[in-house]
Amino acid sequence: MDNNKFDIIIIGSGYRALVTAYLALKKKKKILIISKSKNLLGIMSPITWQGGKFDKGYQFFDGIDIKQKDILMDFVGSDVLHDFGFGAASLTNNKIYPFHAIPYWPHKSKIFSFKLFAKFIINYKKNIKQIIDQANSYEDLLNLLPTELKNILEKECERRIGLKSKELSYKFQDFPFFNFRQTIMPDNLAILLKKNFDYFDNVIASRRKSLGLECISLYPKGKNMGVAGEIMQKKILDKGVKIKSSISTKISNYNTKEIKIITEDQIFYSDKVYLVTELDDALDFFEKKISSKPNIYYLPQIFFYFTTNKINSKFQYVHGNTEGNLINRANNMSLYGEKTSNNEFVLSAEVADNKNDDLWKDPDKYLSKVWKEIQMMGLADFDQKYNNYEIFPLKKTAALHLLNFNNSSEYLKKYLQENFLNKILFPGLGKRTSRSFFLNELEKTINANE
Ligand SMILES: Cc1cc2nc3c(=O)[nH]c(=O)nc-3n(C[C@H](O)[C@H](O)[C@H](O)COP(=O)(O)OP(=O)(O)OC[C@H]3O[C@@H](n4cnc5c(N)ncnc54)[C@H](O)[C@@H]3O)c2cc1C
Repeated sequence: MDNNKFDIIIIGSGYRALVTAYLALKKKKKILIISKSKNLLGIMSPITWQGGKFDKGYQFFDGIDIKQKDILMDFVGSDVLHDFGFGAASLTNNKIYPFHAIPYWPHKSKIFSFKLFAKFIINYKKNIKQIIDQANSYEDLLNLLPTELKNILEKECERRIGLKSKELSYKFQDFPFFNFRQTIMPDNLAILLKKNFDYFDNVIASRRKSLGLECISLYPKGKNMGVAGEIMQKKILDKGVKIKSSISTKISNYNTKEIKIITEDQIFYSDKVYLVTELDDALDFFEKKISSKPNIYYLPQIFFYFTTNKINSKFQYVHGNTEGNLINRANNMSLYGEKTSNNEFVLSAEVADNKNDDLWKDPDKYLSKVWKEIQMMGLADFDQKYNNYEIFPLKKTAALHLLNFNNSSEYLKKYLQENFLNKILFPGLGKRTSRSFFLNELEKTINANE
């Protein structure tokens, strides 16, 4: 049995499994990762196309602070990762607002913005933070906004995502277009209001930099995110971490000192288990049925890739925040990553209109519209042409939290406490799905449990 006994077992793969193993190695020696595949890279595995390797859409270690930067530099290598800084722009009403990812409403019209501002004053609530904290659905958050904004966000939510705001958890607002804090005025005015009024600090957005937030964005310059993933995987394997492939993992009811994990052909034991899967995968591990409804909805998106002869914009990516447009995000991939074997630059676009079946049936028909939007976003000149293209329809991209997620995650937390005495940990459960938030939460659990 000793061969099957580990200090820590991590169930899952991708960035979260890799960093968990890396930080856990600093504390314990014998670690097993149970993953659906031998390759642990997850969404970081690139697409091979035109003689180069390109990420599935935009992939950075971003939103991180100095401490997290140091961890990643140590893990992946300071000779590999380069800090590109915050490099986003927003396209609202087909005008570009630099260094910001959220819609910039003055580009719709100054009158529209002024009206929003007046409505925000009418809506003024002293205890806004408390009201926001009590929100359950994304609709609850929208109800706190001026009707003009609420209607736009509701309509775009249905069109781009294919769901109504009342079907999504309040956490859905992590998506830039759908952020609760929207940008309704120039940065200097917004900062003034945010500094002086709690209410405005909670309801309106301004640029990251003006808020004094870190603007770190790490990437393996001239390569692809898979290179960082492979270094991470090799490092943990070299330090003795074992991998077991399993597509139907079960966690036995707790009745011994150790947690018993059953795979198709082997049983493993551990003092501590880290779950780093999505919630719906994790709920399947237990005998008890925690939820009969799904908690996660994977956003279907079509990825358009283009090769072209020049780079036209300094921005790493531009968010598509114009109502009715197809692109959610367009990426200047060769600005930070690889080029094709013919030395061409690659641009990519993450596209969704989930009310339009025709887009999914015949995406080629939408090619010129997508390219035109890329030109609007400034990634290509208006007279610039693309050389080659490829379309990759992906039925599952970002994991969005459905309304039911809130209850199920709370139930699971309680269930783990009561039945497994907190020996099964799920760092970041219920928090925003970004690499920076996960690292933060993981560090807390690793340090708290030793
Ligand atoms: C296109 C795209 C781009 C993104 N870009 C960024 C970015 O630039 N920055 C950022 O911070 N975040 C980004 N994200 C979000 C990112 O996916 C999350 O930050 C998350 O931390 C990464 O997920 P992961 O590494 O845990 O798993 P992933 O890489 O998403 O995939 C691994 C999946 O395998 C499943 N799995 C593995 N083994 C098992 C098993 N044994 N049983 C059951 N399930 C198993 C896991 O549940 C997991 O869902 C992006 C997401 C997408 C879809």
